[in-house]
Amino acid sequence: MEIKDLLSAGFRFKKNLGQNFITDGNLLRAVVLDAGITQDDTVVEIGTGAATLTKELCKQAKKVITFELDRDLEKIIKSNLDGFDNYELHFADVLKLSDEDMKVWVPDTFKVVANLPYYVTTPMIMRFLESGLNVTSLTLMMQKEVAERLTAKHDTPEYGAITVAVNAVADVTVTRIIDRRIFFPAPNVDSALVRIDINKGKYAFKDFATFKKTARAAFLMRRKTLANNLVATFPIDKPTAEILLEECGFGKTIRGEALSVEDMIRLSDRIYSLMK
Ligand code: SAM
Repeated sequence: MEIKDLLSAGFRFKKNLGQNFITDGNLLRAVVLDAGITQDDTVVEIGTGAATLTKELCKQAKKVITFELDRDLEKIIKSNLDGFDNYELHFADVLKLSDEDMKVWVPDTFKVVANLPYYVTTPMIMRFLESGLNVTSLTLMMQKEVAERLTAKHDTPEYGAITVAVNAVADVTVTRIIDRRIFFPAPNVDSALVRIDINKGKYAFKDFATFKKTARAAFLMRRKTLANNLVATFPIDKPTAEILLEECGFGKTIRGEALSVEDMIRLSDRIYSLMK
């Protein structure tokens, strides 16, 4: 569907819902390709918009379950998907649905594909990574800066809690960088298409809860040393925190952001053994 058809249908784009649509056929096909969608896949799409991406997904997937918030789009979506019978449209906020709610609509293993409103990127990633749902990958259009954070190396300004949280349980690939001018209306930032392959067995953790707490401590106060942040997080004193760090091969004054994901796992395993 052409954007001019949308406009002539009397549609007003809602900035507060992050409505920056994709109509470029090459980009739409590239998203489906990078997501690795096949005839065996059930896809969950978040943010149907004018169903331009939904339509490309319907061509490749077994089934597409698409979620949208804006009921003003209903007519446009249904007309754009006319002739396809392998989709379900739900007007619901995925962030507010529990796993049980989702399982009613999406009982199979599935892949997520979405051109997300920028402000929901991080909560949406965490919603799926931390869920008990059978999701195998997320292919997401997001702000370029967020993609840089997801793929940052330790000891860089972009490296942070979200880098560690995602890379501990998934493999992240930036598949392409997208110029802002391809969206309509154009947003103020460039975008990146990112594929997150969930791989919960990537690392062996002694205890995942301790790992999450250690990662939170690492970025608690960036100007403080990791030893101080560990003392503020766990029931240990400073000399104990410093011994733990030295046992892991780090200096006493190391800062959290200097630790790679593997380093953080090593430290959290040691903390867990001490606490047990
Ligand atoms: N997929 C379409 C495309 O690529 O052109 C639309 C993408 S647009 C960036 C994001 C869409 O998500 C908008 O249509 C917006 O109304 C919808 N949306 C915003 N927040 C949502 C939420 N929490 N749950 C479901 N849809 C949402």
